[in-house]
Amino acid sequence: MRKDIATLSRTKEIIETYQFKFKKSLGQNFLVDLNTLDNIVGEGELTEKTGVIEVGPGIGALTEQLAKRAGKVVAFEIDQRLLPVLEDTLSPYDNITVINEDVLKADLDQVVAEQFQACEELVIVANLPYYVTTPIIMHFLESSIHVDRIVIMMQKEVAERMIAKPGTKAYGSLSVAIQYYMDAEIAMIVPKTVFIPQPNVESAVLKLTPKKEKVGNVIDEAFFGKVVRGSFVQRRKTLFNNLQTSMPDGKAKKEEIRLACERAEIDPRRRGETLSIQEFARLSNELHSTFGENE
Ligand code: SAM
Repeated sequence: MRKDIATLSRTKEIIETYQFKFKKSLGQNFLVDLNTLDNIVGEGELTEKTGVIEVGPGIGALTEQLAKRAGKVVAFEIDQRLLPVLEDTLSPYDNITVINEDVLKADLDQVVAEQFQACEELVIVANLPYYVTTPIIMHFLESSIHVDRIVIMMQKEVAERMIAKPGTKAYGSLSVAIQYYMDAEIAMIVPKTVFIPQPNVESAVLKLTPKKEKVGNVIDEAFFGKVVRGSFVQRRKTLFNNLQTSMPDGKAKKEEIRLACERAEIDPRRRGETLSIQEFARLSNELHSTFGENE
């Protein structure tokens, strides 16, 4: 019986056999610790009815553990050099499909329709490439596929921003973007020592679960995003000043912003970082009647 991929000796052997050279630009830090993997997979709450999408299988460390517990695993790997490696390392498993594609370009609807017919739920599990964490998460959240849970490893500092609450230093447009769709919690902190090569920063596993109801009946989600980002452009400025810069020019702009804040019952002298998602939703809906049509 072969050892699990995520052991230091087996990983070294695979890297040696294939003369694999890590590409920093693709965020290649491979996990070599079965305990960490057990914890990650545990957070996924997988059963044989679960379909899993993994981003970036690398040499298959996490993929193997997912395949042991889920019904089906589809893994997107951008690096073509890893395909022959994965074909070898994952050969004992018949429930894995590796797709050689940039996940950001993937047609997720099509993948779900074709690959997961026999599954009753869909979970995303990944040790993400850190250079592209946020775009990948937003790609899933903004897609039309229904995801039941997301369990993802990322840079600790980014995870902290994603779960941050209003009034804290870490709270920003990223916190709002994530928490608009999902309930977010840090499931565990992961030290550098469980990867090869070791990254420069600590990591965290973030668990995201869809909100039962979306916050605040937002009329126009794209406009909402613009209002939120616009409110954080200069963190030390007031909401009023930031909105003046970010809203499109027009007649009586200042007055319209002031009136929208009044209707939303939000003091325009506040800073963006103090507004809850609910308040951003109200503000964006009020601003939309004046500024939304110009989009
Ligand atoms: N899952 C493996 C593990 O835990 O050991 C490897 C994780 S490594 C942090 C990230 C992986 O994502 C690498 O294999 C890298 O080639 C791949 N990757 C990077 N950008 C990608 C993208 N846009 N789409 C799909 N895979 C990507």
